Amino acid sequence: MTANRDNAFRIHAGDHVLVVGLGKSGLSAVRFLLGQGVRVSVSEGGRRDRLDREILRWLEGERVRVETGGHSSEFFCAVDAILLSPGVPLDLPALDAARANGIPILGEMALADQFTTTPVVAVTGTNGKSTVVSLLGALFAAAGAAPFVGGNIGTPLTDYLGSPQEAGVAVLEVSSFQIDTAGPFRPRVGVLLNITPDHLDRYADFDAYAVSKFGLFRSQQAGDAAVLNVDDPEIMGRESLWPASRCFFFGHALGGRPGAAVEGSEVVVSGLGATERYDLAATALAVSPNRENAAAAILAARLEGCPAEAIRQGLAAFAPLAHRLALVAEIDGVGYYDDSKATNIGAVLSALAAMASPVTLIAGGRDKGGDYRLLASAVTARVKNLLLIGEASAKMAAALGDLTRVEQLASLEAAVARAHALALPGEVVLLSPACASFDMFTSYVHRGEVFRKAVRELLPAAASGGTRGAEPMPQAAAI
Ligand code: ADP
Repeated sequence: MTANRDNAFRIHAGDHVLVVGLGKSGLSAVRFLLGQGVRVSVSEGGRRDRLDREILRWLEGERVRVETGGHSSEFFCAVDAILLSPGVPLDLPALDAARANGIPILGEMALADQFTTTPVVAVTGTNGKSTVVSLLGALFAAAGAAPFVGGNIGTPLTDYLGSPQEAGVAVLEVSSFQIDTAGPFRPRVGVLLNITPDHLDRYADFDAYAVSKFGLFRSQQAGDAAVLNVDDPEIMGRESLWPASRCFFFGHALGGRPGAAVEGSEVVVSGLGATERYDLAATALAVSPNRENAAAAILAARLEGCPAEAIRQGLAAFAPLAHRLALVAEIDGVGYYDDSKATNIGAVLSALAAMASPVTLIAGGRDKGGDYRLLASAVTARVKNLLLIGEASAKMAAALGDLTRVEQLASLEAAVARAHALALPGEVVLLSPACASFDMFTSYVHRGEVFRKAVRELLPAAASGGTRGAEPMPQAAAI
């Protein structure tokens, strides 16, 4: 996968720009570009009859040419630049044709350099991005900075670029695909949370994926700051890729480096002035991996000038996001956890590490090219029953079948019913799929909701047997 990094690129009124993808981000980009006096075309892979008619009519009224149902070289080679929606594969043949013609290929992050002076805190990593970005938003909001929070999560950056831009800081979640097309994107503070295998179906190999993540720091300058995970060997082992900007660290063994250390339930910040301590014990962030996520967010917020007192207020008020290791109910002494957002192996490893009791793990879905054998030692240590669903179930059974009791089930509901039959009091049932959801569900949210419903449906039958926790609880307690 090659990345286009034409640092000199600027968009001018009258330029002709092709927006690829007409989802939420693409539409926002079209609106923004039209507002800049740019001539816009759109290429959308989905069928025309699947698109909103009003949107199509609006585009027609704005004289935007639209191709649907595929991507043609003719469209891609007739423009001054191409703006990709997140998630559009970089290896489309039409993009190859554009590259051969020297046409710049950019994502929305590339526009920040030209179109905003709002300071940017950007977060990438395989796992924890949404949690850390939401937490940073809460910390800056507590400081009265009215942050813009978006990018790969929620609101597209171009929505902000097209607005009056009144935020004191922009907190952006950046996926590796967005880094690959970020051009001159220069976060004042860049956070790299972790690198574990993911999206290997879209990168040549793990190293290419890891190198892509470091691209977040590529355009940083001397006064900018990088926040790196000291506990991650894939980050610490790639020192040659660390940025020239100031490096700070978070995690358990800082070894005298400046940054945020996790010490029990406290985060201790040193090397930025006087030592500061933040107690997470009474917050929803007291348990791993959220303790480490909190350390990263506290450090990044401090580096961007967020006052310590606002950080303490923000930490105390923060409610964790749904479908990330959240306790749904406790039934017959068994805790049922929804970790539907765990779509890769690293996320499953962190969920299993958080569990002290034997686990009946429900996993599977659409394979993303990962090596499930990386789960072997955690499965051996913690997983009593492995219930597999979806397209990846045979591959996962082949990789892990010799380590624990494995069954393949036809549906998530069937897996929940089977887990209910197998799990003993004091144990845990965990949905942490290690796979994408799109083979059986519309999204990880849909998958999580189906799981929660199936768990709640166990409640009436289980009522006489000592059911507790009929209402979903927000987050895993220390278990
Ligand atoms: P992302 O936006 O990177 O997907 P999320 O905050 O949505 O991150 O979390 C995705 C999954 O990763 C969830 O299953 C969550 O429990 C897990 N997770 C969250 N933070 C971390 C972390 N620091 N390390 C490993 N896994 C994590």
